[in-house]
Amino acid sequence: MKQGSYHDLVIIGAGPAGLAAAIEASAGGLTTLVLDDQPAPGGQVYRQIVQNANSRSARGYLGADYWSGHELADAFARSLAELRSECRVWQIGKDRDVFFSQHGKAQKVRAGAVLIATGAMERAMPIAGWTLPGVMSVGAAQTMLKSSGSGADGAVFAGSGPLFYLTVWQYLQAGLTVRAVIDTAPARLGLRHYWLALPALLQPGLLLKGVRWRREIRRKTRYISGARSVGIVGDSRATGIRFRDARGGELTIAAEHIFIHQGVVPNVNLTMATELDHRWCPRQLCWHPRTDIFGQSSVAGVFVAGDGMGIAGAGAAVLSGRLAARRILAGKNGRSSGVPLFWRLLKFRQTAIRPFLDTLFTPPQEWRTPEDDTTIVCRCEALTKADVMAAIAMGVSGPNQLKGYCRAGMGRCQGRMCSLSVQNLIHDHTGVPEDRIGHLRIRPPIRPLTVGELAALVDEDASE
Ligand SMILES: Cc1cc2nc3c(=O)[nH]c(=O)nc-3n(C[C@H](O)[C@H](O)[C@H](O)COP(=O)(O)OP(=O)(O)OC[C@H]3O[C@@H](n4cnc5c(N)ncnc54)[C@H](O)[C@@H]3O)c2cc1C
Repeated sequence: MKQGSYHDLVIIGAGPAGLAAAIEASAGGLTTLVLDDQPAPGGQVYRQIVQNANSRSARGYLGADYWSGHELADAFARSLAELRSECRVWQIGKDRDVFFSQHGKAQKVRAGAVLIATGAMERAMPIAGWTLPGVMSVGAAQTMLKSSGSGADGAVFAGSGPLFYLTVWQYLQAGLTVRAVIDTAPARLGLRHYWLALPALLQPGLLLKGVRWRREIRRKTRYISGARSVGIVGDSRATGIRFRDARGGELTIAAEHIFIHQGVVPNVNLTMATELDHRWCPRQLCWHPRTDIFGQSSVAGVFVAGDGMGIAGAGAAVLSGRLAARRILAGKNGRSSGVPLFWRLLKFRQTAIRPFLDTLFTPPQEWRTPEDDTTIVCRCEALTKADVMAAIAMGVSGPNQLKGYCRAGMGRCQGRMCSLSVQNLIHDHTGVPEDRIGHLRIRPPIRPLTVGELAALVDEDASE
């Protein structure tokens, strides 16, 4: 592929959304290029699926849902779409130039349409001690299992949500011991949970799966429900975890490896850096790009699909990828993209379980903003809650002004980790609703880039 080459569709992300879109678009005759920063297709959910197929042990512990991704991976391999792995996309230009780096070399391709399918990331969890060595996210624990078949024996898991239970279940299937599971979801379901479980009955398989995972976890581990005020204990590394149980009793469990989790949020760095319109989602407590049902964003020719549109799971990601491809194909061929009512009903069925899950697993306030003044909020700049609160008290108007006052969000991750916590602290202090506070302005490049890489790109441009 030549520098600056043209493709009808460039897709960023080879997860279920990106793969499904690529299969549909290339079958419809669009020249389609998929860029992904992982070494192989699959995204978060089907990470390393092609390589793991040769591992007999992985077959047992990753579960049937994981292996169901084979069909998608095979269909993608048979399609005419081109995949470039280990490519970090760091900017989408105004004229749909897509800039990325591969093996330390910056490059650019041109696109008729761009589909951003960059998925989800775990919510930051600024509890006491979360930055200590020995503490990792549950997503990272699962990534180890999927990509190298390894895990930490005797670890404690703390948090809640579907990915939380799934990963503990996978650990147990892999024969690893789990010292304790500290569940922060409510110990008892409330009336609103039962109400929201009614539409969730449209996806009975998912509900039953969750019940099965929890039952097995309760049977095989020390399981504590309704935990509050969770914090990690240790000076230079984690030595344990302390919390209050549902009856208010204080407990400490010794552990060297602690995995924490409070759900996932859309990975909106690229959609924000591309200046798409976003809206605050009060149910999922995070920002979503504004799109129509086909994923068309506020910028012509730029589409969004999958969990990056709003957390809805792998099945819905496939559907949204197909919908975006259909609209792009229809636009190219001057046709209509089908009956929106049909697609709306299908999407409603695919996402019917979300209100129940989002409400049952709403992250407790103390996991969104620290209880304790000395807890780190911005990891890159090592700023504590007290540092950020001192800047807020000076009367900042929002996260962008706060950046100038105390550098929160100015580090290497460009606010990826701390932006929601900072916004929440401003909301707590001022009472201004989150949607009015706004979000941290994300500027390209969204991934770290060396000056050398950039210079090589400029040189190639000049010689074109
Ligand atoms: C750590 C983690 C683990 C998860 N595990 C599971 C699971 O086991 N089961 C499950 O049902 N759900 C899981 N989920 C939720 C899950 O991500 C989705 O529901 C589903 O994978 C969404 O599909 P997607 O195509 O939208 O995105 P993803 O599957 O996340 O795919 C997005 C892809 O985009 C790539 N990407 C992102 N930014 C860039 C960039 N700038 N340049 C290049 N490439 C980029 C990523 O590397 C990734 O391969 C997990 C989520 C997380 C955060």
